[in-house]
This record gives sequence, C-alpha cells and structure tokens, in this order.
Amino acid sequence: MAYVITDDCVMCGACADACPVEAISEGDGKYVIDADVCAECGTCAAECPNEAIVEA
Ligand code: SF4
Repeated sequence: MAYVITDDCVMCGACADACPVEAISEGDGKYVIDADVCAECGTCAAECPNEAIVEA
C-alpha cells in the first residue's frame, strides 16, 4: 500500500519537495499522495516534521 498523509499535516510542503516521483500535491487543508504514483519509498515520511505520513 501507498503512504497516506494524516490530518496532522501542517502543509509545510517538505514531503512534496522530497518525493522522487512527484506523487504529492497540495490538497484541501493538507497535502495528498497519489496512490497510483507513489513508489512506496518512505522518503516523505522521513522528511515530515510532524510525523503526519504513515503507511496505509
Ligand atoms: Fe513519494 Fe516515496 Fe512518499 Fe511515495 S513514499 S509519496 S514515492 S516520497
């Protein structure tokens, strides 16, 4: 399964900048990961300062 961004997202954008496949975009109130594009590398989860990205 792909990674998902929880409501703990503070929209800093660090994950989107780090994602090697550009799977993350700005959503309504939080960033969102396109599960069809995500390569499940975990880079975004490591970059998030708020631990808002988890494995689905
Ligand atoms: Fe991008 Fe990797 Fe995060 Fe998937 S797990 S959204 S490929 S940084």
